[in-house]
Amino acid sequence: MPEITLLSQETIDKIAAGEVVERPSSVVKELVENAIDAKATAVTVEIKEGGISFIRITDNGCGIERAQVPLAFLRHSTSKIKSVEDLMSITSLGFRGEALSSIAAVSQVELITKTYGELTGTRYVIEGSKEKENEEIGAPEGTTFIVRNLFYNTPARRKFLKTAQTEGNYINDLMERLALSHPGVSFKFINNGQTKMHTSGNSREKDMIYHIYGRDITSGLLEIDHKNEYFHVKGFIGKPLISRGNRNFENYFINGRYIKSALLSKSIEEAYKGFLMQHQYPFCVLYFSMDTDLLDVNVHPTKMELRFSNNEAIYKTLFEIIRGALTHKDFIPEVPVQE
Ligand code: ADP
Ligand code: MG
Repeated sequence: MPEITLLSQETIDKIAAGEVVERPSSVVKELVENAIDAKATAVTVEIKEGGISFIRITDNGCGIERAQVPLAFLRHSTSKIKSVEDLMSITSLGFRGEALSSIAAVSQVELITKTYGELTGTRYVIEGSKEKENEEIGAPEGTTFIVRNLFYNTPARRKFLKTAQTEGNYINDLMERLALSHPGVSFKFINNGQTKMHTSGNSREKDMIYHIYGRDITSGLLEIDHKNEYFHVKGFIGKPLISRGNRNFENYFINGRYIKSALLSKSIEEAYKGFLMQHQYPFCVLYFSMDTDLLDVNVHPTKMELRFSNNEAIYKTLFEIIRGALTHKDFIPEVPVQE
C-alpha cells in the first residue's frame, strides 16, 4: 500500500486554484467582479498577450485597508458573508473568498490599494502564494491589481491555454458581458495598447446594446418589462428578423450576475418557435431581479450556473412573457426551411 500523506499547503492551493482560474479571462472576471462589489463606478482592464503575461485592473472602489490586505489573499477569506445563513441572501457577486488566493497561487500579483479613510495606500506583492513585498505608498483611492505570468509555476495548466489572440478574444467577450451586466459602471478595455471598448456608465441598457452590437440589432428590439410573483424581468429581445446562428447572443443577468441557464434558454427558444427558422436563435438581453432566497448561486466555483427553487414556474412564466411580446406584434412567422 502506498503511504497516505497530507499534501503541502502549496500543492493544495494550486489544486484549488484550478477550479477558479482556468484561463486569463477567469482572472479578469474575478477581479472585475470584485471591483463591482467594491462599488466602483469606473473600471479599466488592460491586457497584454491575451492576458497571459499581463493583466492590470484598476477601479475607483472602496479599497482594502492596509491591515486587511494579507488577509484578502488567504483562502476562504471574504468580507461578503459571515455564515452559511448568509448564502440565502447573496447580493454581491463574490462570496466564496477564493479568487485572490487562487490567482496568487498561480501567478505574480501586485496590488496597490487605498481606502477613503486612509492617508496612504499599500503596495503588496505576492507570487505563488508567497508574500514578497508589503509597503506603505502614496496611491489614489481605489484598487489596482496587476497579474503577471499566469501559470508560471503550473506548466501543465499553461500548456492548455490557446493562442494569445484567442485568449484575448475571450476577455473581449467577457468585457462586453460585464459592461452589459452593469450599465451604470464605465468600463474601459485596452488590449495590447489599443482601446477596444469604453462605455459611458450612463446606466442605459439600450445604449450599451448599441455600443456592443451595433445599429442593426439595436433597431430590431422589443422592450420587455414584466413583474410577477417570481421575478421582475427587464430588457430587450430581438425581433425575429435579427435572429442569430448560435446561442451566444442570449444574455441573461440575474441580480447583476451574468449566468448561463439551460432552463431560461429553453424557455425563450420555445417561445420563439414558429417565429424563427431552424437552427436560428433569438437575440436577447434580459435582466432579472429575483428574491435571493429563491436562488442558489453556490453551485459552482465560477458562479456561472445557479439553481432556482421553482424551475417550472419560471420556465412557464418567462415563456408566456416572451410569447406575448412576440405575438402582440405583427410579425409574419417565417416558414421553417428544410435542409
Ligand atoms: P470574495 O470576492 O468571494 O469575497 P476574493 O478572494 O475575490 O473573495 O476577495 C477577497 C476580499 O478582498 C473581498 O471579500 C474584499 O473584501 C477584498 N477585495 C478584493 N478585491 C477588491 C477590490 N477591488 N476592492 C476592494 N476590496 C477588494
Ligand atoms: Mg471575489
